[in-house]
Amino acid sequence: IGRSKPLIVANWKMNMTLQEAREFFSGLTDAPYEHCEAVICPPAPLLYPLKELMQQAGISLGAQNLHEKPKGAHTGEVHGELLFELGCSHVIIGHSERRAAGETDEQVAAKVHQAIGNSMIPIVCVGETQLQRELGLTKEVIRTQVESALAGVTEERSPFIIAYEPVWAIGTGKTAQPSDAQDIHREIRQMLAEKKSIGFANRVPILYGGSVSASNIQELCAREDIDGALVGGASLQAHSFEAILKAL
Ligand code: PEP
Repeated sequence: IGRSKPLIVANWKMNMTLQEAREFFSGLTDAPYEHCEAVICPPAPLLYPLKELMQQAGISLGAQNLHEKPKGAHTGEVHGELLFELGCSHVIIGHSERRAAGETDEQVAAKVHQAIGNSMIPIVCVGETQLQRELGLTKEVIRTQVESALAGVTEERSPFIIAYEPVWAIGTGKTAQPSDAQDIHREIRQMLAEKKSIGFANRVPILYGGSVSASNIQELCAREDIDGALVGGASLQAHSFEAILKAL
């Protein structure tokens, strides 16, 4: 619903060297991709050196994180204005690995605000842990995460992407059943409609993330409310990344 072409976002996490990243791009054989939109989020120091290779491949540049405040005395952090200047169109916010390390819903909201204020599209990750799932808290957890992230969205027309990533499915080889994922995606769209508007909810792409590969992407994206995927492990090799795009 959220978009006409599926959106595939690669999250390289803390992987790749500059050398390996260059090899990745020379290994791509099918770029640019017409039938889908592709974004790669490399580690921050690789953003600038990869900009041209990304452009040539027709792939958009994304960051994995940004600081919740504008530039200032925050040693080791990166502000949104700089990420935009370096060519980022997207930025991942609230990944479960960052939430597990202490990132709060309030920080996520502030980061969303910074991303939008610096003309980037926030990709907000939400999802329940295995324990929360077992306790029947899935919907509640996701509602809190979605609603608090929306606090950072001041304008109805602001761009916004949600990535539903059940924590138990990340890097584990376990994927949610496409029908279960679809149910959650529909719930998320309903939450967006309740908090903002039906128009807003229908415009927001909702991605699925968690052990996505060429063998499950098609079945996932065939579902009404699954608009693409956030891909970790399978995005690190040119061939497995392209296999996902080709399978769409
Ligand atoms: C992720 O961490 O965003 C992710 C989806 O990882 P993986 O594809 O490796 O499960």
